[in-house]
Amino acid sequence: MSERSDKHTPREAAARGPLLLSTWSFGERANAAVWPEFASGGSALDAVEAVTVFCDEDPGIDSVGYGGLPDRDGQMSLDGCVMLSPEQCGSVCAVRKHLHPVRIARLVMDRTPHVMLAGEGADDFANEHGLPEQPLLSPDAKKAWEKHQAEGKDESADVRPVDGDPGGALFGDDEERWRNNHDTIGVLGLDEQGVLAGACSTSGMPWKVPGRVGDSPIIGHGLYVDPQGGAAVATGTGELVMAICGSFLAVERMRSGAMPEDAIREVLERIASRSDLQVNHQVALIAIRPDGHWSAGALRPGFRLAFSDGSGHHTMDPAFVQLPGT
Ligand code: ASP
Repeated sequence: MSERSDKHTPREAAARGPLLLSTWSFGERANAAVWPEFASGGSALDAVEAVTVFCDEDPGIDSVGYGGLPDRDGQMSLDGCVMLSPEQCGSVCAVRKHLHPVRIARLVMDRTPHVMLAGEGADDFANEHGLPEQPLLSPDAKKAWEKHQAEGKDESADVRPVDGDPGGALFGDDEERWRNNHDTIGVLGLDEQGVLAGACSTSGMPWKVPGRVGDSPIIGHGLYVDPQGGAAVATGTGELVMAICGSFLAVERMRSGAMPEDAIREVLERIASRSDLQVNHQVALIAIRPDGHWSAGALRPGFRLAFSDGSGHHTMDPAFVQLPGT
């Protein structure tokens, strides 16, 4: 299906799309599935929505949507958002009955004067628009929760996301893989017309306190898109990103002329300078300018991203790690 590369090769020259950038290596499968339609003139908005929907429902991608890990009480709740510009964005959080938060978020964007719907209201809105209710907790995720409970831990802070085998079972060759699970797909797209779009879908931090919402569905935190500045998406410990409006900050730096790598570096430097940073904390960002220059960076080792353009579909390391060896 795809060519793989371990070397990050940021774009040297400005270029237009089509281009898709997704968080984590499982994004490569989703990018590849969506690519044919996107490459034949599809819009960036449709493509980023389709990538998240693919991840939510692909049983082989068991860390996003169905298959994601539940909260402290064993309940699933999903968050997501989609964005074209500050005037065109939509978001939902704490969805408990529908599998595709980005699909609901796009309806919020397209059909309401609002930006964000939460909880029961978001599920009711999805029902009103004919989206089917679905069970969200997979048998493997339930088993992982039961194992976590049996160990007597209830804090969410013991999970650090590390990129692993994107297609493996939670309980399979690597019995412990669920401990490092990462539950967010963030995707940025640049289409042939030069239009940027972004989307983000997550089940949040595993074992979170029920009701907790992280950065992913909050415009300017987990995702920000501004045609004048660029787009950025984050994954990892949402609380760290939320404290500094991480995606908004990256886009604002690019709007002021920074290259994506420098913009991301500034975000991660601010996070790395915190005195309360824990070893299990991770944050990674991908950013792209309207001219097609893009980059990715991570606070700690363990993050990978997926990149698709006319040359194929690639999984690669970020351009830099802010705290290597940690
Ligand atoms: N950022 C997400 C959150 O805090 C989690 C993740 O990216 O894995 O909800």
